[in-house]
Amino acid sequence: MSETMHCYRHPNRETRVSCATCGRPICTDCMRPTYVGIKCPDDAKVPRGARTGVMKPNQILLSLLAGLGVALMGIPVVALIFDLPFQWLLSIAAGYGAGTLVYRVGGRNGGPLAIAISLIATAIPFLVWLAPGALAGVADVFGLVSMALAVAAAGLANRRS
Ligand SMILES: [Zn+2]
Ligand SMILES: [Zn+2]
Repeated sequence: MSETMHCYRHPNRETRVSCATCGRPICTDCMRPTYVGIKCPDDAKVPRGARTGVMKPNQILLSLLAGLGVALMGIPVVALIFDLPFQWLLSIAAGYGAGTLVYRVGGRNGGPLAIAISLIATAIPFLVWLAPGALAGVADVFGLVSMALAVAAAGLANRRS
């Protein structure tokens, strides 16, 4: 049986819950649910820099727009890359650039959503050019490798902190 404590903000209220960060007892009115457990109101106010991976609605919207832009602009870019030498290296550079764009527009948080948008936006232009061949049963192996490299680079661009 755990001992009864009293909320540090409401000394007359009994509680069995304490803050995950500072350990002070908090009552049901004072507890704030967070990703890492229940916290007191003071510690629930996490500084902005610590909120990695959490996007505000406008950042989500901007990220989606950036992803759409990358997907559309990527179509001619990929067509060009496929005609040039060193297409794998160019694909890595293009994918990394696309991922960086989404990462920056999304407030540099590098969260799962930013990564997902980067990956999908980078893959779309490649799929536009590769899908017809793939459907016809002629897989462009070089093109598929290019796509895989570009998508990986786009994901990597979001993992910086
Ligand atoms: Zn606390
Ligand atoms: Zn309280």
